[in-house]
Amino acid sequence: MHDILIRGGTLFDGAGNPGVRGDLAIVGGRIAAIGEAAGPARKTIDAGGLALAPGFIDIKTHSDFTLPINPKAESKVRQGVTTEIVGHCGFSAAPALPGKVALLKDYLSPSAPWLPFRETSFPDYLASFPATAVNAGMLVGHNTLRLMVMGMAERAPSDAELQQMIALLEDALGAGALGLSSGLFTPPGSYAQAPEMIALGHVLKRYRAGYFTHLRDESNKVLEAVAEAIDVAAQCGVHVEIVHFKCSGTDNWGKATKALAMIADAKARGFDIDCDAYPYEAGSNPLKNLLPPWVQAGGVEAMLARLVAPETRERIRADIARDGLNNWGRIASWDAVTISISPHLPQFSGRTIASLAAAQAADPIDALCDYLIADRGATRVLVASIAEDDIRTLVASPHALVGSDGNCVAPYGVVGQGLPHPRFYGTFPRVLSRYVRERKVLPLAAALHKMTGATARALKLKDRGLLREDYCADIVIFDPDDFVDRATYAAPHQFPSGARTTVIVNGTLVVENAIHTGALPGRVLRRDASGAVG
Ligand SMILES: [Zn+2]
Repeated sequence: MHDILIRGGTLFDGAGNPGVRGDLAIVGGRIAAIGEAAGPARKTIDAGGLALAPGFIDIKTHSDFTLPINPKAESKVRQGVTTEIVGHCGFSAAPALPGKVALLKDYLSPSAPWLPFRETSFPDYLASFPATAVNAGMLVGHNTLRLMVMGMAERAPSDAELQQMIALLEDALGAGALGLSSGLFTPPGSYAQAPEMIALGHVLKRYRAGYFTHLRDESNKVLEAVAEAIDVAAQCGVHVEIVHFKCSGTDNWGKATKALAMIADAKARGFDIDCDAYPYEAGSNPLKNLLPPWVQAGGVEAMLARLVAPETRERIRADIARDGLNNWGRIASWDAVTISISPHLPQFSGRTIASLAAAQAADPIDALCDYLIADRGATRVLVASIAEDDIRTLVASPHALVGSDGNCVAPYGVVGQGLPHPRFYGTFPRVLSRYVRERKVLPLAAALHKMTGATARALKLKDRGLLREDYCADIVIFDPDDFVDRATYAAPHQFPSGARTTVIVNGTLVVENAIHTGALPGRVLRRDASGAVG
């Protein structure tokens, strides 16, 4: 007796092969049969006219900051996502050592304003993660490790400090963390030079774990930053994932082609490296990170005190005039920066820095600094700085996986506040509807491969990402003609279209015909000693 029998869909296996008509049977949380599946079933789903694929693996998310608050993972499962990889960009909620919980909470406030932080080791964090609708694989963040050991110190670690970071990293990897994430764009990660990352990369190699990097620079020095990431793959022999890859700022538009050629060349030389990207022209970041890095030295309180001084603002003004925004490059105007989530000033969500400055008849830098002080440094913004041509280049490339860089949120409750980036709700259907169906940038099977099988390979997932007998039954069923992202910058809290979208996680229905069942069958995925993740 099958638990679930899905009949008559077009099956895309996740390996990039064209769809074939067939049935799929699920027993005990695993795929039991593919093709002509006969026999009785407790539940039968008619998938006539629908596509059926492995559940999407969102390789790049920060849902560790929202899953504990919205374990139904609403904005993700409705896109067909069944697995999320969290703890990216150097930011993880663990380890949080005794006496340093408030420091971590303050540091992560623009990313995790609603998450209750507590003292925890990484093994304890993994063991106590709540039940959720999606599977979750966890990374330990380099910025978090540095914060625990060195605070916001702007220098290289001493030998003893490096050993402390290594011990914390080993603690996380020993418990099953998939790897280390870095956020080299922002303090304190940006204070780390290449030798520190290479030393940590050698630890990753010993544990057969991966390195996931938010590049040191995604704008004016993006190609140099790609070279630094490739160097970790070359020197340490680990898989390197360049996350949310972009070429930000008008001076850097068009560099995606060169970056992908560098990645292809590294692969041809035998190094294991991928990147991922989301299909939107705007990025999202804490507002404070748009300022030159020296502004944040010493932490949030030091930054807020510093921002009051006119000479600080003069220096910021000069730095931005010369180089553009830190990590984001040159923007056409301050209309390109929109307040997204503002914990202490929620009424200003959706306003641009240009409009705030105009309303006060103030210089934009003064308006920005005043705003950061009033919001205690916790503001998140959207920055429109990415070229559509580069997005197409990345969507078309076999070297670029699909990752949302979004949190799971919902149109209700605490996580329904503010105006998050629409990628939180729309990334996967947007690739399929806008770039596959409308613009024909790549075939459907190739796009699905970049969301499933190719991603599983990069992550070393041992039994997910493909439609294979005995693989875990993570499945998405959708109508290729009616699976369209509806979230916009102005109104992001909208699920994709598709009345027949059905999502199964570990053999349990989580979404049935676009209705969330409330089930929480997701698991915390762990890396074992062989490096495989399950
Ligand atoms: Zn990042």
